[in-house]
Amino acid sequence: MNLVLLGPPGSGKGTQAKRLSERLGIPHISTGDILREAVREGTALGKEAKRFMDEGKLVPDEVVIGIVKERLRGEDCEKGAIFDGFPRTVAQAEALDRIMEELGRRVDRVIDIEVSEEEVLRRLTGRRTCKNCGAMYHVVFNPPKEPGVCDRCGGELYQRDDDREETIRERLRVYREQTEPLIDYYRSKGILYSVKGEGKIEDIEGEILRAIGVEG
Ligand code: AMP
Repeated sequence: MNLVLLGPPGSGKGTQAKRLSERLGIPHISTGDILREAVREGTALGKEAKRFMDEGKLVPDEVVIGIVKERLRGEDCEKGAIFDGFPRTVAQAEALDRIMEELGRRVDRVIDIEVSEEEVLRRLTGRRTCKNCGAMYHVVFNPPKEPGVCDRCGGELYQRDDDREETIRERLRVYREQTEPLIDYYRSKGILYSVKGEGKIEDIEGEILRAIGVEG
């Protein structure tokens, strides 16, 4: 099963992708995570990507397409993958279709997670992530037991550089302009399913599982 999760920043793609990856036993491919890792390591890719990320803009298509192409060569992707934050432009979606075809695979389902812009702002301004294991918290809605410390592994929690209000507004603008057209792209292929992204994490996961034909 190759599954694409669509939705604005803060719609819960990362949270759901992690859960689905465990449940279905297929890897979670987050281009945002791969890019942040490159930034942390200070690689050439990281240095190039950082300028765009800090401004809430998209990293150039050819860069992210190259990353995904390479990642999909991994043996662990043979049974499928969950794409989170990719594709983000029609050019990326077309490239993904081509790459999949070359590998004899296809995008099976696309889930559009719908969340209002006010909710996105509320969620992202309070979002905190564990530096060590990537677990996510919210200072009000899902606080850790001890402020700044991960419940799961004791790691330090941090705020992503691009989770500041001005950058979030830019990321939302970019989403509307460049990523939203993918909803029609996938709808016309008959593989798009929409789920409401506001509610309990487990209920949203259940809806996604139903949409992909797995018992919740
Ligand atoms: P995310 O963690 O998915 O919200 O991504 C964080 C940032 O990484 C985005 O705002 C972009 O700057 C960059 N990024 C992640 N995925 C992509 C992509 N598929 N295309 C272009 N830029 C991306």
